[in-house]
Amino acid sequence: MDTLAHGLWGGAVFGQREKGRWTWAFLLGMAPDLLSFGPFFLTRLGTIAERWGTRQRMEPPDPSIIPAYVYDAYDVTHSLVMWGLAGGLIWAFRRKWLWVWGAWALHILCDIPTHSTRFFPTPFLWPLDTPFVNGARWAAPGFMLANYSLLALTYLAIVLYKSKRNKA
Ligand SMILES: [Zn+2]
Repeated sequence: MDTLAHGLWGGAVFGQREKGRWTWAFLLGMAPDLLSFGPFFLTRLGTIAERWGTRQRMEPPDPSIIPAYVYDAYDVTHSLVMWGLAGGLIWAFRRKWLWVWGAWALHILCDIPTHSTRFFPTPFLWPLDTPFVNGARWAAPGFMLANYSLLALTYLAIVLYKSKRNKA
């Protein structure tokens, strides 16, 4: 799934329980991609802008032009094992489960069925052997439309629910 949609889902599901947590849930929802692809994208802004001007944007980039450190970072940030370990550490310090931390796991869970094995299948059990799932391609226009429609409906429902609750 695309990074922005990950952030929006994270905010919708994990950013509502406490006031002021939406931004955190939004950022944690995008973090797995920002921390793996982010630095690489910053060095390649020109090429990305060029690709957006052509039909190429619908196709994933050639995996061989992506440097190894992106793959390494992707393994770490897209692993439920690493997520659980980090969550356990946070819990040990706080003695309380950090609810917004769930936005990160939601990102990984959403990526599993929306990445094909050709382009960054989700290494959700890394460093253990992961049975890669050959999922649908999230960049397909039909999927994007359905996903963002669902997001719009979800946020509408949240706004309606909150305004009703505030009136009561
Ligand atoms: Zn991702």
